[in-house]
Amino acid sequence: MKRNVSLEEISDGKLYTSNDMVKADCGDCAGCSACCHGMGESIVLDPLDIYRLTTNLEMSFEALLTQYIELNVVDGVILPNLKMAGPEEACGFLNEKGRCSIHSHRPGICRLFPLGRFYEDGDFKYFLQTNECKKENRTKVKVKKWIDTPNLKQYEEFVNDWHNFLLNMQERAADSDETSAKQISMFILQNFYMKPYDRSKEFYPQYEERRSGAKLIFHV
Ligand code: SF4
Ligand code: SF4
Repeated sequence: MKRNVSLEEISDGKLYTSNDMVKADCGDCAGCSACCHGMGESIVLDPLDIYRLTTNLEMSFEALLTQYIELNVVDGVILPNLKMAGPEEACGFLNEKGRCSIHSHRPGICRLFPLGRFYEDGDFKYFLQTNECKKENRTKVKVKKWIDTPNLKQYEEFVNDWHNFLLNMQERAADSDETSAKQISMFILQNFYMKPYDRSKEFYPQYEERRSGAKLIFHV
C-alpha cells in the first residue's frame, strides 16, 4: 500500500537490513493487543499469508472471507486484508485473553510490526515506525529474529517480487478502462489467492509456478 508520508515523519529516519539491530522488541506484547484493533483495512495479505492461513487452519479462501478477512481496493486492485470487526474493531484471530490465536502462522505484516518496509530502486529495507507500537521502553532485537520467518533470503526475494509485480499491475489497472482493470484484479485474486495451495508442498515453488503463468500473460 502506497503511503504519501515522508520517512522522517513516521520513523527514526534510519533504514535497516535483516542483520541490523532495531529497537522493536516489545517484550512479547505482554498485556497489550493495541495493534490487533482498529487497523482498518491496513493489514493487507499477500499470497504467502493466504498459504499459511488456508493450510494451517484448513480453511478455504472463501471460508476465511466469511469471518476473518475481507476484500478491498488497494491502489486500484482488489486485495484481501484482515477484517477488524465488532465494536472493538478487533481482528477475528484475537482470543479472549487478548493474544493472537494463530501466532505461528500470523500474516507477514503482523510479524513485521512495528517495522515497515521501504521500497526503493527495485529493492527494500526495513524502517521503524515510531508512532505505532504503544509499548514504551522497547529493547533492541535483530531484524531477522523479530520477523521470525524461515528461509529469510527466499522470503525477502518473494516480498520484493510480489511488491514489484503488484506495482506493475496497479499501474496497468490505473491506465485501463473499467473492464480491463476488473480483469486484472480478478486474475490476481484467482491466480494468487483463491486457487487452493497444496499444504503438502512448500509455498515458494507454488508461487513461482503462478508467477510464471502471470509472466506469460502480462510479460512482467
Ligand atoms: S493475526 Fe494475530 S497478530 Fe495479526 S492482527 Fe490478528 S490477532 Fe493480531
Ligand atoms: S502495540 Fe506494540 S506491544 Fe502492543 S500488541 Fe502491538 S506490537 Fe505488541
